[in-house]
Amino acid sequence: MNIVTLRPVVTLHKLYMSNSTKYIFVTGGVTSSLGKGIIAASLAKLLQARGYSTTIQKLDPYINIDPGTLNPYEHGECFVTDDGAETDLDLGHYERFLNVPTSQANNVTTGRIYQSVIEKERKGEFLGKTVQVIPHITDEIKERIQILGNKGTYDIVITEIGGTVGDIESLPYVEAVRQMLWEFENDCIVVHLTLVPYLAAAGELKTKPTQHSVKQLLELGVQPDILCCRSEHELDLTLRQKIAKFCNVSVNAVIEARDASSIYEVPLLMQAEELDKVVLEKLGLSTKTIPNLDSWKQFLNRVENPSKSVTIGLVGKYVELKDSYKSISESFGHAGAANDCRVNIKWIHSEKLTKANLESELKELDGILVAPGFGSRGISGKIEAVRYAREKNVPFFGICLGMQCAVIEFARHKLGFEDAHTTEIAEDSKYPVISMMEEQKSIANLGGTMRLGAYKCQLKPDSNSYSAYNSDLIFERHRHRFEFNNDYLQDFEKAGMIATGKNPETGLVEVVEIPSHPWFVGTQFHPEYKSTVENPHPLFVAFINAAITYNNN
Ligand code: GLN
Repeated sequence: MNIVTLRPVVTLHKLYMSNSTKYIFVTGGVTSSLGKGIIAASLAKLLQARGYSTTIQKLDPYINIDPGTLNPYEHGECFVTDDGAETDLDLGHYERFLNVPTSQANNVTTGRIYQSVIEKERKGEFLGKTVQVIPHITDEIKERIQILGNKGTYDIVITEIGGTVGDIESLPYVEAVRQMLWEFENDCIVVHLTLVPYLAAAGELKTKPTQHSVKQLLELGVQPDILCCRSEHELDLTLRQKIAKFCNVSVNAVIEARDASSIYEVPLLMQAEELDKVVLEKLGLSTKTIPNLDSWKQFLNRVENPSKSVTIGLVGKYVELKDSYKSISESFGHAGAANDCRVNIKWIHSEKLTKANLESELKELDGILVAPGFGSRGISGKIEAVRYAREKNVPFFGICLGMQCAVIEFARHKLGFEDAHTTEIAEDSKYPVISMMEEQKSIANLGGTMRLGAYKCQLKPDSNSYSAYNSDLIFERHRHRFEFNNDYLQDFEKAGMIATGKNPETGLVEVVEIPSHPWFVGTQFHPEYKSTVENPHPLFVAFINAAITYNNN
């Protein structure tokens, strides 16, 4: 029997679908780390550039409610959205590519799905039924996918399924995809990312892992529509035909995904492979519009042909795993392009930075960024780095814990508050210049309870931050429990460290600067979360500009 005839002509779901949003699922096979997030973001970019309003969502198969409580060594950076979601770092890529903010709805974990189903069970919402993976968990997954589609804002929702097909954890997600393909047959497609490895001994590219991976999907009832094949070498026509034949896809749906020197080149590589065109054809959407990628290409051109370069020291405790500072390093790329400058990052381990090696480690730098973080490990190296930048007039940028270190350093060495500290690390410090926010004191759970998401900040005119933003009212994203202690503000300002940014409602200090220094800015918020290719973050742009000036002197 032809499977197509089994599909209902009009499904119930179709009747209550508020619009004809199209859904693209991106799955991954063979191995992890093939770059599903970048492929999804690149496809979204191409569709957006053709005029389709597109969003991307990530479904993560782990049991944590969100990555907020995960150590960066486990999962890289935790990305924060305007509405305060602590999310997977892929959401950072989505925002950097699309220049559209994501939200709570764009990242869902198995933990979140189960939490919601169990809460409903406790409320008696299942009317005495046995609660099961199918249908209850899969229904919850499908609902989460459609929340974005039903908003009426998006023509296309791309849903990236985390993990690798065949993992026990991702089975309910693949099942939910299977059901949606059935229910919305003309509105859903699956793009499967696989690996076509090159066997040097045989001198050949091998298609077998791709065949197996597709077979695994088929066992779960899902026929992929398009295969994106990661490969170090060109896939010739014969190879594409072979993959197409074994995997039941058309030859033009076998897309080569070659290694690229920069993630920002991937949209252009995908465009050359006509991924967007094949996707639109399969979804029954018009392919007439030509993607407008002019500004994207200009950005790439500036990245590839800079006229100057600077070296910035990034001082942090997770520098062995660079994904821990993904948004910061990407922001440097954007700000570099805006300044026609290559930004080389020197990764400096804060734990290994001591008074003895400070000079040799930092002397070649044109700017120093002290990174965000939690806990005491590496804090003294961070404080030393701030001191060096302040005393030697090296452009300095402190983010969150980095700003707090700048405050501590200033208190210790300019104000003479010897044991000044943050109460996060020294609860009984005589000078708690950074202390816990009042509303944080009664909080017992660690997950999702920090000051999270976007808050207003009023900037003082005549400050470096004001001239960077060219505005006095800004919105930036937060993720912290501790704050500048306003009891000491007068002491700081008298000695030359000024609160140039404050929350207008609460008076919390959000930005500190030292006006007598060429460029010394510490922010309690995380500007790196808002830097995109199209909108490089003004503070990063100004910091790199200051580093160029410093380098020229
Ligand atoms: N640990 C500090 C706090 O919670 C800083 C957090 C951060 O750098 N994101 O306030």
